[in-house]
Amino acid sequence: MRKDGTFIAVAVEDGAAADAELARKLTEACPVDIFAQGAGGELEIVQDNLDECVLCRLCLDASPPNTLSVIKLYDGDAVLA
Ligand code: SF4
Repeated sequence: MRKDGTFIAVAVEDGAAADAELARKLTEACPVDIFAQGAGGELEIVQDNLDECVLCRLCLDASPPNTLSVIKLYDGDAVLA
């Protein structure tokens, strides 16, 4: 799944997005509420909050490698590493 704001996009590998435990961790980690959980526990990306991203990397730290990307649309689609 991927959602794009004006400045920031977030992409999460589909299998990871279905993992309720990962969704819970991401929902807790992000200081600007870019992540939420759906009724079945699955991950949701909150479109309206994407551009509030502060590039803190907490979501990357909470995710298995290569499952989540924060993409800087304002910087030639550079991926936050
Ligand atoms: S880098 Fe920080 S603010 Fe941006 S989506 Fe990840 S946890 Fe949220």
